[in-house]
Amino acid sequence: MKEAMFWEIMHGELKCLLCPKNCAIPLDQTGFCKARKNIDGKLYSLVFSHPTSLAVDPIEKKPLAHFMPGTKTFSFSTVGCNLGCMFCQNWEIARASPDDRPKRTISPEKIVELAIENNCDSISYTYVEPTIFYEYVYETAMLAHEKGLKNVMVTNGYINRDPVRKLYKYIDAVNIDIKSFSEDFYKQYCAASLAPVLKTIREIKRMKTVHIELTNLIIPGLNDNEEEIKQMCEWIKEKIGEKTPLHFSRFFPHHKMKDKEPTPKETLLKAKEIAETAGLERVQLGNI
Ligand code: SF4
Repeated sequence: MKEAMFWEIMHGELKCLLCPKNCAIPLDQTGFCKARKNIDGKLYSLVFSHPTSLAVDPIEKKPLAHFMPGTKTFSFSTVGCNLGCMFCQNWEIARASPDDRPKRTISPEKIVELAIENNCDSISYTYVEPTIFYEYVYETAMLAHEKGLKNVMVTNGYINRDPVRKLYKYIDAVNIDIKSFSEDFYKQYCAASLAPVLKTIREIKRMKTVHIELTNLIIPGLNDNEEEIKQMCEWIKEKIGEKTPLHFSRFFPHHKMKDKEPTPKETLLKAKEIAETAGLERVQLGNI
C-alpha cells in the first residue's frame, strides 16, 4: 500500500482529486475505481506494485501506428477503473477490486528490469485505466526514462489537470479513447462525461512533448451517428491537428452489451471516409 497523491481533506471530508469523479471517500471506503481507500483519514493506493496483467505486445496493438513502429512494448495493469462503460472489453479486471485477485508484488524497479530483459523499447500503462494506478505509473515512468525506455499511456483521458501536468513530463506517447462525441452517451453508458476528456487531450497537446493518437470504438446504433462522427473529426482537426492518427475500432459484444451485434465493416469504412473528408490524414481501422 502506498499513500496516494492528489487528495485533500475539505470540510472534514476526504476528497480524491486525481480524476474528475472527485470522489468524497468516507473512512474505510474506496472510491468509484476501487483502487484508492480512506484508511485512518489518509488516502492510499491499494494497487501500487500489484499488477494483475503483464504482457509483451507489439506497439501497434496499443494501438499506436506512428510511434516506434516494429518495436515491442512491456504492458501491464492493475485492477480497477474510473469509468463504468457498459461495453467494457476488459471488464473482468476493470470492474474487479484488489481483494478479488491473488496479490503478487512487482516493484516499479522490477517492471523496468522485466521490460529490458524482454527486449522492449517502451513500457505501456494499459488494459484498464492507468490513471487509477497513478503512483505506480509515475514511479515506473521516471525509472524507465533513467534507463532509456519510453513510456506509453493507453487511457480514457478522465484525469484532472494537475495530475496530467505532473505525469506527462515522463510520458512519450498516448492513445486516448474518445468513446463518443456526445455528453449523453458518456452519461448513459460510461458513468462519466465527455468535456474532461477533451480538456485532457488539449492539455497534453499544449505540452508539445507527447505523441498523441486517438481511438473511437464504434458501437452499432449507439455512437455510429454520421453527424456526430463528423463533428468529432472536425474538432480533432481544429484543436489537435490533421496529422493526429485516429483509429476507428470495431465493437464486439462484451460485458453488459452482449446483445449487440459486432460493428458492420461498412460502418467503419464510412467513418474513415467521413474522417478523411473532414481533413484527417492518418485514419486507420482496428479490430477487423
Ligand atoms: S481516481 Fe478513483 S477514487 Fe479518485 S476520484 Fe477517480 S474514481 Fe474516485
